[in-house]
Amino acid sequence: MNGNLKIAIQKKGRLTEKSVELLKLCGFDFENYSERLFVSARNYPIDILFLRDDDIPEYVKDKVADIGIVGENVVLEKQTQTVTLEKLGFGRCSLLLAHPNDKELNSLSEINGKTIATTYPRILTNFLKKNDLNANIIELSGSVEIAPSLGVADLICDIVSTGNTLMMNKLKKSFKVFDSEAVIISSKDKLDDEKKNKILKDLLRRIRSVLSARSSKYLMMNIPKDSLKKITEIIPSLKSPTVLHLADENMLAVHAVIPSDKFWSIIEDLKKAGASGIILLPIENMIA
Ligand code: ATP
Ligand code: MG
Repeated sequence: MNGNLKIAIQKKGRLTEKSVELLKLCGFDFENYSERLFVSARNYPIDILFLRDDDIPEYVKDKVADIGIVGENVVLEKQTQTVTLEKLGFGRCSLLLAHPNDKELNSLSEINGKTIATTYPRILTNFLKKNDLNANIIELSGSVEIAPSLGVADLICDIVSTGNTLMMNKLKKSFKVFDSEAVIISSKDKLDDEKKNKILKDLLRRIRSVLSARSSKYLMMNIPKDSLKKITEIIPSLKSPTVLHLADENMLAVHAVIPSDKFWSIIEDLKKAGASGIILLPIENMIA
């Protein structure tokens, strides 16, 4: 026990790269995993544990790790007693019910009596219960998408992000069970170590600032002096932009932080209002 805060992340898989990137953006300097079970950051009192994603909720519950980064789908399926501290905006996917292309399924009630193959039996059981449905669940450990073509199941319930796997297996979406993304979890009990508590607070503050910077962009442009009011109205959530004078007295420079996803929907309006030399920059960090 070195007093460091222990963070569990996925050793090798879809969440690994983004989890490592997030921790590095928080300013933590550490060697990239390779074959190690855990590494300590060089410049901060944290240890990073590399684990199978399925094991992360249990290790966090048992306090082998203080916090963990894992998909909500895994947290929900494992039903371990953990608390979600923050949603992280990556690893997005949906748990879907899907059926063969050549079959029709128009209402949820048609699921009654059917057989569904899944690696998520607990989430599926809850979903069926909630919707007052009765179906047979076949629990598989992987490759559920081939179950209908093998004649083992009528439907599947599986994680989908692009839908390519469904398409390749001649399946289509029937109904959505829920949307998932990567989250940070901790044990239900508060950390009883004062030092670790401080580290956790600081780490969460850093993560939140990285996340809010990611969802914002820094917009710079030149505008005719008399269109300032119009431009201010176009830019979302802008109360008081930074306005700078230019050598040309009829022009102003306007700088503002905007939500990343709004840029393309306002660019034409900005141009129409006379904006030129529009530059959009990424923001590395944003402290509230
Ligand atoms: P491990 O070896 O750690 O058990 P795994 O094979 O169970 O890995 P991955 O396929 O690497 O898991 O997926 C990890 C997580 O990534 C999933 O639990 C889910 O939250 C998320 N995810 C995002 N998109 C997808 C997708 N298309 N298919 C599966 N998982 C996805
Ligand atoms: Mg797994």
